[in-house]
Amino acid sequence: MKFNTVIVRFGGEIGIKGAWTRKTYEKLLLRNVKNTLKHHNVPYENIIYKRGRIYVKTMEASKAASTLTKVFGVSSTSPAVETISAMESIIDKSLELADETLTNGSSFAVRCRRTGKHPYSSMDVCRIVGKQILTKFKNRNINVNLKNPDVTVNIEVRDEKAYVFKETFEGVDGFPLGSQPKIVALLSGGMDSAVACWLVMKRGCPVIPLHFDVTPFTDKRTIQKAQDVTRALFEWAVGFPRKLYIVPHGENLRIFQEEAPKKFTCILCKRLMYRIAERIAEKERAEGIVTGESIGEQASQTLQNLKVLNEAIVNYPIHRPILGFNKTETEEIAEKIGVLEIATRKSMGCKAAPKKPATKAKLEVVKEVERKLPIERMVEESFRAARIVEI
Ligand code: ATP
Ligand code: MG
Repeated sequence: MKFNTVIVRFGGEIGIKGAWTRKTYEKLLLRNVKNTLKHHNVPYENIIYKRGRIYVKTMEASKAASTLTKVFGVSSTSPAVETISAMESIIDKSLELADETLTNGSSFAVRCRRTGKHPYSSMDVCRIVGKQILTKFKNRNINVNLKNPDVTVNIEVRDEKAYVFKETFEGVDGFPLGSQPKIVALLSGGMDSAVACWLVMKRGCPVIPLHFDVTPFTDKRTIQKAQDVTRALFEWAVGFPRKLYIVPHGENLRIFQEEAPKKFTCILCKRLMYRIAERIAEKERAEGIVTGESIGEQASQTLQNLKVLNEAIVNYPIHRPILGFNKTETEEIAEKIGVLEIATRKSMGCKAAPKKPATKAKLEVVKEVERKLPIERMVEESFRAARIVEI
């Protein structure tokens, strides 16, 4: 059966917004859907927006349906065949689908949803279509199983149209990208920051990834990972700027190593990263900074240390979407979003990290250490040395 349409369903949270917000979000989603189809070379004849859904008319419905699960704000998609809502047409298309999908001995169910005015109820549709299928394919030993069928014939009746389909692909829900302002993301190339980044994207924030290149304290594989992770994340951001900031940070680390107590290296390094990120956020008119820190995951991420890190900047909030995640929970998302393999690729860890890092740094002590260092100059020079790579 040739599917000619994709039903694109919107996330529930969009539907409960007030009229004006909902309209804005839906428009944005429509634009993101179009850009994504174009980017993946999926041809379509038309896109119709109706009552909180999008219908994409395309002869490549399966490809379009799976591609569009990567658009934030989409809750699910189904390749479907569109017909008119007359009962005979529904029966015709349903029989066609059943013919293709029911093999000998398989069980099936018919499910129907309906909105609009029709001379039948959705229960009627299920009953009538079910009966027709049983009669027509009697010789295939098929049976009805409403709980756990091998094949489901889905019918959605919407006003004068009806859609028949067998599959639904899950989307990731959330809000359309661009419905919130930009955010600067500290992106290491590792798994945690990649997942953190994706989570804020899911809520509508376009990200500006920022990577600190700590060569010679690491090797070239790290920067490559950061670029590859960024590319994978941008698969979720079709139509948005594709730039990655790279800031040379090796010289800064060398200064910390040589001129400050070793146990503070990581804390000083992070505080400096935040300060530079703040400058880039200002320049980009972003509204926040996101990191992949989670409580206790690294020595620098104890609650006491996070407090010391936070104090480094005041003009921008630091958002830590995976603060309470276990490693396995982060991994699960990393896998789902296509960054796990890249982010766990082998690379040289940061060689500037001390053997015995401070786990309960005191703010006053850290500030005292910083007073003896040319922090402002370091921020300024690093900011000026930042380069942008198009991904
Ligand atoms: P990740 O898995 O993201 O590498 P991590 O568990 O290794 O995180 P840290 O190395 O302590 O933890 O880094 C904490 C956070 O600081 C990272 O999630 C990231 O947001 C930021 N960060 C660390 N290193 C860099 C870097 N080289 N460039 C940009 N951001 C970084
Ligand atoms: Mg890391």
